[in-house]
Amino acid sequence: MSKEISEGRQAAFYVGTGLQILGGLLFASTFVTSAMHFGDFTNFEARAKSEMFRAISGMVLLVIGAIVRGIGARGLAGSGMILDPQQARQDLEPYSRMAGGLMKDALHEADIRLDGKSERVVMIRCGSCGKLNDEGAKFCQECGTPTEFTRQS
Ligand SMILES: [Zn+2]
Repeated sequence: MSKEISEGRQAAFYVGTGLQILGGLLFASTFVTSAMHFGDFTNFEARAKSEMFRAISGMVLLVIGAIVRGIGARGLAGSGMILDPQQARQDLEPYSRMAGGLMKDALHEADIRLDGKSERVVMIRCGSCGKLNDEGAKFCQECGTPTEFTRQS
């Protein structure tokens, strides 16, 4: 079980993001050039071909980028590329931990404890009569004997 997303997956995520940006720019550039040459029919066929090529390769890059990015973020099984629920659970573990951590933070912020225990209290047992006294007590509340704690220090 891994707590962190592996470096390979991190790299895939950023490469995928880069491909998406590149694809988006390539795709958008066709609108820019066609707007720039609006009403200009010189060399129209060659430009149309170039725009078509950029639009298609831009879309392909967008799709590939999205897939690579998804695999990087969620792993092969976690992103549904291979059918393996057990592996998917492992791939998505960092996110499960994140969700659990967020929940823990929220509960902590709301002062809700999951283990049912209240704040820990330290008591000192009297060496003479056995009564439990508060942590700071110098003498037993029952018999007045100096507590172990004070005798030792
Ligand atoms: Zn006592």
